[in-house]
Amino acid sequence: MACWADLRALQRDSAQLCPRCTSFSINAAVCVQCQHKRRPLTALYASYYYTAPLKQLLRAFKHQRQLAILDTLAALMLAQPPVWLQQENIDGVLAIPLSRNRLFERGFNQSQLLAAAIARHYGLPLIPIHWIHRHHRPPQSTLKSKQRRDNVRGVFQVRKSLKNRNLLLIDDVVTTGATITELAHTLKFCGVAQIYAWTLAHPK
Ligand SMILES: [Zn+2]
Repeated sequence: MACWADLRALQRDSAQLCPRCTSFSINAAVCVQCQHKRRPLTALYASYYYTAPLKQLLRAFKHQRQLAILDTLAALMLAQPPVWLQQENIDGVLAIPLSRNRLFERGFNQSQLLAAAIARHYGLPLIPIHWIHRHHRPPQSTLKSKQRRDNVRGVFQVRKSLKNRNLLLIDDVVTTGATITELAHTLKFCGVAQIYAWTLAHPK
């Protein structure tokens, strides 16, 4: 099993990441894609590279229900927070919801557990996860980039007013960003002011 030092060594350097999409960018400049594309997220940050041994640890947490790993994953995130977190006026923490079927299969929502730990640590309100409904669709991991965008289109439904709030979205892994972007689009459409996103890991 991985030790703390191995995991900490996977930390991503925010001085070399685009603040809007968390891809590599010299001196943290807004990257070319983000300059030319309006994105619903004000900021996106991933704390670590999604590679061994973190990958195995996260899989064990999600698929073998090793809930004891949660504390380590939450501590890893809190050890490597986004630089913008303290400056921004965030008034709610929201996890990426799972569909009811997926939640039933897995028994828990890993992002919700991380979001709860983060909300507790920073003394921020945790938005009840059932305020957002997620329709059931095939898992994103089985699809290619373009299909992922189509697969999540219209998948979220906001059930309570979150108007004018500044929200922090939490997820475990962001890959293409299709899911988190779709949720951010839906929230923006429903009047949410600023949307920030923080995930534990990102592949590159
Ligand atoms: Zn970018």
